[in-house]
Amino acid sequence: MLAKVAIVGRPNVGKSTLFNRIIGQRLSITDDQPGVTRDRIYAKSSWLSKEFNVIDTGGIELSDAPFLTEIKAQAEIAMNEADIIVMVTDCRNGVTDDDEYIAKILYKTKKPVILAVNKVDDQKFRDRAFEFYSLGFGDPIPVSSTHGVGVGDLLDRIIEAIPEGVDTKYSDDTIKFCLIGRPNVGKSSLTNTLLNDERVIVSNIPGTTRDAIDTKFTAYGKDYVVIDTAGLRKKGKIYENTEKYSVIRTVDAIERSDVVIMVFDAETGFIEQDKHIFQYADEYHKPCLIVINKWDTVNKDSKTMDEWIKKIRENFKYLDYAPIVFLSALENKRVHTLFPEINKAYEAYNRRVQTSVLNDVFADAIAMNPPAEFNHGKAKFYYISQVGIQPPSFAIFVNDPDFIHFSYKRYLENQLRKNFDFYGTPIKLITRKRD
Ligand code: GDP
Ligand code: GDP
Repeated sequence: MLAKVAIVGRPNVGKSTLFNRIIGQRLSITDDQPGVTRDRIYAKSSWLSKEFNVIDTGGIELSDAPFLTEIKAQAEIAMNEADIIVMVTDCRNGVTDDDEYIAKILYKTKKPVILAVNKVDDQKFRDRAFEFYSLGFGDPIPVSSTHGVGVGDLLDRIIEAIPEGVDTKYSDDTIKFCLIGRPNVGKSSLTNTLLNDERVIVSNIPGTTRDAIDTKFTAYGKDYVVIDTAGLRKKGKIYENTEKYSVIRTVDAIERSDVVIMVFDAETGFIEQDKHIFQYADEYHKPCLIVINKWDTVNKDSKTMDEWIKKIRENFKYLDYAPIVFLSALENKRVHTLFPEINKAYEAYNRRVQTSVLNDVFADAIAMNPPAEFNHGKAKFYYISQVGIQPPSFAIFVNDPDFIHFSYKRYLENQLRKNFDFYGTPIKLITRKRD
């Protein structure tokens, strides 16, 4: 599991701008207008090849909460969820009462707190940054999130603070999976139906890791853990029920899983909100199964299934490898078919392909459909090598990666899929220049 870095600070200091700068993309919306909703508050990032997750706590909005409650909640999210906290202040205002209020809450944590003084766009503000020393978090780091200045120094400090080692509490052959989807699609019903299968033996002691609830069980002779995305409720925490916050829980579960089951509701049909939740499964490169639940509620004719498949494939182009299962959790129809699907996806996720066979397939694919010229050059391929599993990852050695059109890369990926059994799992193709 990757370390989590939470960004906290009072409104308008530039948390969202810094978040975007760190994740290197403009995913969330920054606006001068207060109250603008941010569409993204959680993302994966990396610095010097070290990966971590970043949370923009400012994006977790509590409706109608008084101002101080809001910033208190943000600080609490940081303290409860993160491994490292970045407190952001604004050099132009000096140390404000609200900064001190947040600092006071953060004093209670044993987690590393890194202080970033933002909006140091100009050398003349640099000295002002040192006023913030008084907040008691050591040397403040002057940054300008809009210009990117100082952000590298901040990232250096962040990765220095990342704790070593992550807990692996299950044996390697235990398959961990989770069910994700918007509320009411039937995730808990499906989990219960799975666990009530006559071949399932649930372990007595459900282990808890961090904040998710894990249920360990054996089914058809294999060990599994189902990770509950709703997780343990921390009583009395006001941010618990916000929709944005539940994203953090979902991504946590995805990260800890070997297989992700994405659940849709056949009764309500496919809606936009479904899309929002599932983008994360792709980002973490996990095997996916797509479940269309509540199939019992549908008036079916010979076309209904195909229409669903079409809709899913159109809306989730990047998930074209994910099998689609139609079932009813309530009536226990076809639910047992999930186990073989989970197993197959897990095997594919861990599959290693023999180098010689791999290169034969690769050479055939190129011979059958040679690349066209692209970017004023023609790709000349040398060989392919599998560099990893979980997911299966391949390096392609080529005279110049810039000569490969993305559709050709896609073609090569499909050829690998066709020839090897990468059922249900994403695979990665990396292109490398060969001298
Ligand atoms: P948040 O409420 O803390 O998330 O703050 P935002 O990221 O929404 O930024 C608030 C305002 O400060 C926006 O108008 C940003 O463009 C601006 N801002 C953010 N970072 C900087 C910076 O480094 N320099 C300057 N001059 N403005 C900044
Ligand atoms: P969750 O919020 O995704 O965990 O959804 P729940 O498992 O709580 O289910 C939401 C509602 O859908 C409940 O009233 C369930 O009884 C109902 N439900 C779940 N699965 C099915 C199903 O396969 N068919 C029908 N008809 N209802 C279902």
